[in-house]
Amino acid sequence: MSNLENMNDLVSLCKRKGFIFQSSEVYGGLGSCWDYGPLGVELKNNVKESWWKAMTYREDVEGVDASILMHPTVWKASGHIDNFSDPLVDCKECKSRFRADKIDINAPCEKCGAKDSFTEPREFNLMFKTTMGPVEDSGSTVYLRPETAQGIFVNFLNVQQTMRKKLPFGIAQIGKAFRNEITPGNFIFRTREFEQMEMQYFIKPGTQADAMEKWKEIRWQWHLDNGLDEDKLRWHDHGEELAHYADAAFDIEYKFPIGWDEMEGIHSRTDFDMAKHAEFSGKNLNYVDQEDGAKKYLPYVLETSVGCDRHLLALLCNAYTVENKGQKDERVVLKFKPHLAPIKVAIMPLMKKPELQEVARNVLSDLQKKYKCEYDIAGSIGKRYRRQDEIGTPLCITVDYDTLEDQSVTVRDRDTMAQDRVKIADLNKYILNKFEF
Ligand code: ATP
Repeated sequence: MSNLENMNDLVSLCKRKGFIFQSSEVYGGLGSCWDYGPLGVELKNNVKESWWKAMTYREDVEGVDASILMHPTVWKASGHIDNFSDPLVDCKECKSRFRADKIDINAPCEKCGAKDSFTEPREFNLMFKTTMGPVEDSGSTVYLRPETAQGIFVNFLNVQQTMRKKLPFGIAQIGKAFRNEITPGNFIFRTREFEQMEMQYFIKPGTQADAMEKWKEIRWQWHLDNGLDEDKLRWHDHGEELAHYADAAFDIEYKFPIGWDEMEGIHSRTDFDMAKHAEFSGKNLNYVDQEDGAKKYLPYVLETSVGCDRHLLALLCNAYTVENKGQKDERVVLKFKPHLAPIKVAIMPLMKKPELQEVARNVLSDLQKKYKCEYDIAGSIGKRYRRQDEIGTPLCITVDYDTLEDQSVTVRDRDTMAQDRVKIADLNKYILNKFEF
């Protein structure tokens, strides 16, 4: 069971072990932007793969990869140009900036303690603007998308018609989103550039309650399948506090070391977005329901939206375990599920002797056709095991002198630390069995 108490312990491990670095670190960093290092990018790719498989390897969902830059009218239609803002206040004393909806603006400033020091709240639009083409004028303004969803809405008919889909069906996408957040922070919890994994499920109007039940269950199970402890997950029902486009909304929250907070949103968006795009584009975006007398209507949408980085942060928090804290045999282990672990197998010859290395390298070249492996010859075996524990490698394989006699290796399990003697010829089967892919 994870026992991470302080986010700083995780931030430092992530840096030390090559998971996550501050962006542009040599220049002093850039506010709330982070770079995934060699282990971080493996972990992130594994998260994306697990989502992609769960969401699109099914009959009723197709994937897309839409462009980040979209026609500017998309953002007028979606309401982002007019409404995608947060209320901002500044402390006149210490110049700190806050989201007015996240603090009590009648209380003293939480940074410097000054009383009555806040400015009036001002609405601050969160979209990043840039220009397209050689001339910078108002006509060339485009936006970095603040969510991936709109790339799906505008492709509804393209996907429906090319793939001959019938309602209900979904379109899924993984991609970058950008928000000029007023108060980013808490490591990768809230950043200005992040990745979303979103699915819009297009349904017949009136069936949204059933679709909500179905996807709530599927999405909850996905977080469990990735190893998050169920007692650190809970539902938050938006109840009456719904966004203007929604008729029901639930969040899955995770208990981070900073407290409970949103990880995924599951929203019933009605036909708000489709109706707006039909209105602003002047195009007919109706679905023709052949199973209901060729009736034409705009589909309703049930959306699931999870931040890849935020889920990854929950996985790191959940996996971080210190055993025998403060004692001589203290060990830090990242207890990832095998399918998420950045390195699946570490291969270690007991000594640097050429005859052991030759066998170990043969094992490596065979296994790395399927798995991301690491080859480690530095330090005692005990130290090498600890290093792999700290990055969450599920299995370590040691090649020793007996291997030369019996063509077997020692396989050590990260969690139980139990060791099995396994024939090299049986390794693939053994590993597959352990990983339960
Ligand atoms: P908040 O109210 O916290 O700003 P939101 O409700 O606007 O967030 P959504 O628009 O529903 O968030 O985004 C869906 C998901 O995308 C969130 O559950 C979260 O996992 C992720 N996400 C949103 N904003 C950020 C961000 N700035 N950094 C990292 N992930 C984010």
